[in-house]
Amino acid sequence: MQAVSVVKDSGQRAVIPPFEDEHEELRATVRRWVENEIVPEQGEWERRREFPRELFDRAAELGFLGLKYPERLGGQGGDGVHDAVWAEEIAAAGMCGGVGAGLGAHTGIATPPVFNFGTDEQHERFLRPAIAGERIAALGITEPGAGSDVASIRTTAKKVAGGWVVNGSKTFITNGVRADFLVCAVRTTAEGGHGGISFLILESDMKGYEVSRKLEKLGWHSSDTGELSFTDVAVPAENLLGEENEGFKLIMANFQWERLLMALGAVGGMDWCLRRTVDYALEREAFGRPIGKFQAIRHKIADMSTKLEVGRSMTYSALRLLAGGQDALREVTAAKLFTQRAAVEVADDAVQVHGGYGYMREYEVERALRDARLGPIGGGTDEVMKEILGRSYGL
Ligand SMILES: Cc1cc2nc3c(=O)[nH]c(=O)nc-3n(C[C@H](O)[C@H](O)[C@H](O)COP(=O)(O)OP(=O)(O)OC[C@H]3O[C@@H](n4cnc5c(N)ncnc54)[C@H](O)[C@@H]3O)c2cc1C
Repeated sequence: MQAVSVVKDSGQRAVIPPFEDEHEELRATVRRWVENEIVPEQGEWERRREFPRELFDRAAELGFLGLKYPERLGGQGGDGVHDAVWAEEIAAAGMCGGVGAGLGAHTGIATPPVFNFGTDEQHERFLRPAIAGERIAALGITEPGAGSDVASIRTTAKKVAGGWVVNGSKTFITNGVRADFLVCAVRTTAEGGHGGISFLILESDMKGYEVSRKLEKLGWHSSDTGELSFTDVAVPAENLLGEENEGFKLIMANFQWERLLMALGAVGGMDWCLRRTVDYALEREAFGRPIGKFQAIRHKIADMSTKLEVGRSMTYSALRLLAGGQDALREVTAAKLFTQRAAVEVADDAVQVHGGYGYMREYEVERALRDARLGPIGGGTDEVMKEILGRSYGL
């Protein structure tokens, strides 16, 4: 039997499908960008409660805002797997929760419905400038009185000659303060429920469109989260996205990718926390030895590593299915559910291993913990994920 003390692992791994060598090249490019241009600045952006607008321009210049969109619209001609690299690596390279949220809301949740459901004319007006970083996008579904229960939204759009008149409000909207356009869920029939929801693209310079508040929050400090109000906003008919009263389909289509991207972000974040914590455990000494030489700390690292590997396996497996065009509701839901809670636990362990320094801003693991806490809430709560999973068995 091999003695425990000589167990070694080089850490080298072959590329895991669906990723291929070209994705690993992209991964290295994103990592370099995050390490060189985001990590040195993000502490200051967190304090200022905003990363600069120019970061969208720079991300566009490097092609990151259009990875999965066709070249004819200014994109890179890639697919969802390229976007997956981007979502994972932005977290793995720097645990940049706020930056990842702001850029990710633009690329991962707000622009996909425009591409998937938009007309050629909408692609030109909204998607092309979004890919170029010229117009910032946000997705507006949640309202002060309706989050998990999407069907109970109350923002109304009344049909008039030439378009719609919108009244209502949205809250917790990522990029809500500086978005140039909002892909917005509205009620277009008098009856409640799933039918009668439509999507309109609201533009921030429309009369009656107001940012009522920039919200203060536990984490993701460098991303803006807005509360919006709409008073008699006149929206032209050509801003209807997809079919009238078929908006629920658009919401459901989007959720799978959103949840998978969140799982990838959590995997990246756990990876970052683990690497940071191992380095610290090797370097910090107590009672005459590196703290990593205490079994209690070693076992904590083992737990962190296990959660990362389980999360990564589940997430990549769901990604393989989804990227291959297969049904992956259960796998995506389970990956989202597991990784978001695991990321909070792993970040908490990272803080614990860092001791008092873990509680200090400068060591950044406290930010990882605050940022990770959004995971079990955003994009569908843990409780909602369990409902979806349970119901998928006909229960
Ligand atoms: C930082 C941040 C950014 C966000 N960004 C966006 C964005 O860009 N766009 C957007 O549209 N939304 C956004 N959201 C909203 C987010 O998706 C919602 O907060 C989330 O879906 C939960 O809705 P809620 O907050 O209304 O909670 P509620 O739905 O009120 O839930 C409260 C509690 O009740 C539980 N609960 C609800 N229903 C059930 C049920 N059927 N069974 C068991 N338990 C249940 C929930 O799990 C939760 O624990 C963001 C939120 C945050 C915090």
